[in-house]
Amino acid sequence: MHATVDYFKRFYEKGRPLVVYEKSVVQNDECTFFLVKEGADRKIVILSRGSMLRPVKDFEVAEYGKFRVGDDAYVFAVCPFSHANVSVLRRVFHFLCPQTSGLKVAVGMGDRIGLATPGHIRAAKAGVFPVFAQQSVRELSRTARTFDDVLDDVTWAVFQEGYRDGFGADADHLKSIDDVERAVSAGYTMFTVDPSEYVDNNVERYSLEELEEKFTALPWCDLECDVEGFKKLYEGKKVTIGNEVFVLTRQSLFRMAVKYSAAISFAAKVFWRVKTILGNEDFDFEVSVDETDVPTSPEEHVFIALELRRLGVKVTSLALRFVGKFEKAIDYIGDLKEFEESIKKHVSIARSLGPYKISIHSGSDKFSIFPILGKYASDLIHLKTAGTSYLEALRIVARHEPALFREIVLFALQRYEEDRKAYYVTTDLSRIPDPNKILDSELEPTYLDENNGRQLLHITYGSVLTTKKSGGEWVYRERIHRCLIEHEEEFYETVAKHLRCHIEAVWS
Ligand code: ZN
Repeated sequence: MHATVDYFKRFYEKGRPLVVYEKSVVQNDECTFFLVKEGADRKIVILSRGSMLRPVKDFEVAEYGKFRVGDDAYVFAVCPFSHANVSVLRRVFHFLCPQTSGLKVAVGMGDRIGLATPGHIRAAKAGVFPVFAQQSVRELSRTARTFDDVLDDVTWAVFQEGYRDGFGADADHLKSIDDVERAVSAGYTMFTVDPSEYVDNNVERYSLEELEEKFTALPWCDLECDVEGFKKLYEGKKVTIGNEVFVLTRQSLFRMAVKYSAAISFAAKVFWRVKTILGNEDFDFEVSVDETDVPTSPEEHVFIALELRRLGVKVTSLALRFVGKFEKAIDYIGDLKEFEESIKKHVSIARSLGPYKISIHSGSDKFSIFPILGKYASDLIHLKTAGTSYLEALRIVARHEPALFREIVLFALQRYEEDRKAYYVTTDLSRIPDPNKILDSELEPTYLDENNGRQLLHITYGSVLTTKKSGGEWVYRERIHRCLIEHEEEFYETVAKHLRCHIEAVWS
């Protein structure tokens, strides 16, 4: 250990065991900064030889102190892990600030608990840009966290692990301008707009007259065009991608415009809002239509790409709804040959009309399609995983606090009917046994290595993490946190191993 850090530890520890995160030790302005843990409490220490601590004036300090070693005097400040302090750290150390990925291939590693990022850092692979902060607005509300909370937890982890290689922060599934503004001011570098509320999924049911009527009523002003101009631009247009030619007929044009144009115009509005706030600052922008009812056809993809381009929207990545099912926490369900054919087409469209990356959402545990993604899109993909780190966290709980784990399973079973409404899942509850009849050693294989248990636990994370007692304290959240902090090395390695499998399967 750094000699001065060791002096501090020996002086400060007296009777209260202190863990120093050795990889965090860093010098700045004649001071040494590092992170420590006292019980479950995490703190920043700023230490300097002499009698002055210059950078400290910006920090909220809980405790000042001084000590001597031989003839040398030292001063230190112990600062709590707070938003204010983490913000100052980001100003002092640029490596703590999120960056943009541009066209670099990327992997998004959402973390609903706020403690998994050291595991993500250990799973990172050279050449694959990691997005450590990635949370959708829905996940934020389900976990009672904010964009700031997510980025602060990631900042802390990046500091703790001494990670210097750059990472992104993705504000995922943004559905309103308010959300967008919050994400921008929190310092996010990637904005994923989800305009699905503006997608008209009924389009296949409309008669030709209805289609025409709805086409005429599109928000032409926002689309910076009019009916005639639009027809002139696209009707009969041929777009050649590789050896495939897409011809936009009048009917297909009407159908696609009615289905997507309002959504595209909302995406453009969000893009320009971000651009206005950030000025010349770079950012990554993704449009996601992955939550529509039916798969996005290659022709629709062409239309969306052309329209975004016409409106000046520069996308870094585009998330489509792919064939097959991307259910939470389990492997891909569907015809692999069909998936292969479709991804091949979508990637060549993205190459030719962008280039921009193809973004795969709900990418956790989709092991059967990873080799296909690797084969056709290893240079043009953004893979988003999310809930998987939560399930890995529950592994640690199952191993070390079986009683708490049983409580969580029973609570999840109670919550299932309500919580499943937001998801498309095929969980068979009858195959999930009563945890009180399962041996401690069997909890992990029974609930975390089996699809039904995984989905049950995955979709109820919000209820588990936010349920409070009448007095206001969390029922499970803090106990889960304490368990993870107590077994943090094991947790990080478990998470890292699981994510490494994802990354290696795509980018081997
Ligand atoms: Zn998504």
